[in-house]
Amino acid sequence: MPEVIEFGIPKKSAAVNLGRLHPEIRYRVRVALATDGLEQARSSSGARPEVNQIEYRRRYIAWRNYQNGTGPKVPWAPLAADPNRVWPDGRRGSAHMVQKAGGYKVGNFPNEVGWAYAIDIGFWGNPSLADKKLLETVLRRHGMVRNVPSEWWHFVPIEAVPPYKARYPMSALTGFGDRSQRAVEYQNLLARVTIGGKPFYTGKIDGAFGKISRDAAERFQMAHGLAVNGDWSIDDRAKGLAVLKSQSSPSKPRIPAATKKPAGKPKTKRAKIRDEIKTARASLDRLEALVLPKNS
Ligand SMILES: [Zn+2]
Repeated sequence: MPEVIEFGIPKKSAAVNLGRLHPEIRYRVRVALATDGLEQARSSSGARPEVNQIEYRRRYIAWRNYQNGTGPKVPWAPLAADPNRVWPDGRRGSAHMVQKAGGYKVGNFPNEVGWAYAIDIGFWGNPSLADKKLLETVLRRHGMVRNVPSEWWHFVPIEAVPPYKARYPMSALTGFGDRSQRAVEYQNLLARVTIGGKPFYTGKIDGAFGKISRDAAERFQMAHGLAVNGDWSIDDRAKGLAVLKSQSSPSKPRIPAATKKPAGKPKTKRAKIRDEIKTARASLDRLEALVLPKNS
């Protein structure tokens, strides 16, 4: 079969619609499928736009057939496939369905336009149990989880599944195998954040998230009590930025002002001028206090 790749994601056929799949999901899946061992993984279904009444009707009939037992009846099908079902979070029908703009928002996903939130991942040939397990493990690390027990291939973002959201509150921004601007940002950050005076990341700033990047992420996560997985999540980034901030402006020791030592750093020309202005202003204030009456 010919290789079809869209948004960096291999597809089983050209008919798989990734264009209406949420961009964050496309990103996560693309990074995840770059992992060693998942070379045969292919997206087999993405967004299912409800393009017209005929399409909608087809879905409705499929769902009704499940209900009547005239289709492949499985317990979850009536919930998952009913195109009219409205979920507590505002989503309508299946997560593969393109949702209305503004009608469904989970976690950090903006929803100015309507997107679909589920992707099916299969393999060329017959995947082994180990293949399926690896797929699940890797996708989970990248913020995509299974939420239909009988479907090993069906993945939705962690944010859409409340129990997972609590257990895995992270979604990877970048991870092993990624080549992206996000990986550049990650490398820049961990090249500046230090431990024992040494930066966590000492490799090239090239946006290629390889072993050195993964090691750095793991050491950073370990050092700061974060979940250790070698990926770089929103939580990791927030911690990284906080640490960087505290490094560049260390909190002042609580000592009386009188015993405070002057800063040891040599002053820049600009800083010297600022100091002179300060001193001049202070002496002017003193002079004015002598000359002018108070509360004038
Ligand atoms: Zn699915």
